Amino acid sequence: MEIIVGKTAGFCGGVKLSVDKTKELLNSNSNYYCLGELVHNNEVITELEDKGLKIVNSLDEVDDNSTVIVRAHGIAKEVYEEAERRGINLIDLTCPKVLRIHELVKKDNSLILLFGKIDHPEIIGTISFCNNGIVVDSTDDLDKVISYIKNNNIKEVSVYTQTTYSLDKYNELINYLEERLTDIKLNINNNICDATRTRQSETRELAGKVDLMIIIGGKNSSNTKKLYEIASSITKTYIIETIKDLKDKDINFNKIGIMAGASTPKSSIDECINFLKG
Ligand code: SF4
Repeated sequence: MEIIVGKTAGFCGGVKLSVDKTKELLNSNSNYYCLGELVHNNEVITELEDKGLKIVNSLDEVDDNSTVIVRAHGIAKEVYEEAERRGINLIDLTCPKVLRIHELVKKDNSLILLFGKIDHPEIIGTISFCNNGIVVDSTDDLDKVISYIKNNNIKEVSVYTQTTYSLDKYNELINYLEERLTDIKLNINNNICDATRTRQSETRELAGKVDLMIIIGGKNSSNTKKLYEIASSITKTYIIETIKDLKDKDINFNKIGIMAGASTPKSSIDECINFLKG
């Protein structure tokens, strides 16, 4: 059996930075909350919780003047405002690439179409900084938006994207938009981060070379699900969170490719390799 591991498998720069910083903080003080799971990976979360990190879903669950870690996805404007009002100290580990998008949309006064998943934390954050923004995730959404633009005689539209959005979907939506909005000014910003792009294209390439792909990542991780979509359209693919999910699966293949989402630590990838070799 030959096993090929994607070069871009595992933590992206933003996630690595937030996990490393959180571990460093927990080494000197265990009294930290984190707003949402720091990464979509149960093993990493359990390790951080063992060191004292408390995961909360909203600031309603923390006392005034507490210290709360903001994960790489970022948070909404209202959360920053609430923290300030209540004296909550935020340790902002939002990825710099996401912060840059917040700054860009804040300054943009045209109608903003934000390509992304409406319930994704990054999109919930970014849309809150838009002066006039609509989240778009399908051609059906675009049809509604295009009628709105035409009915209101809007002359300028800007597009921004979730950093982990699918490149294929982005291309599909941009083509659809460009074909139908020929008489307005379209400012297109593709904010899909390099880490996401290279991981998606490497997954496509690797899937074409192997008999089985294994995608490792958290069940809630949207970038992992996209890798699965790409690989499974090319070859037989399993999506797993830990090696437990592999135990009842057929792994009798000559060539196996491994790719992992941005929240997957190296230890999970190594575990998978050892399991396959074993
Ligand atoms: S995927 Fe890119 S933008 Fe998102 S956290 Fe990772 S490095 Fe930052």
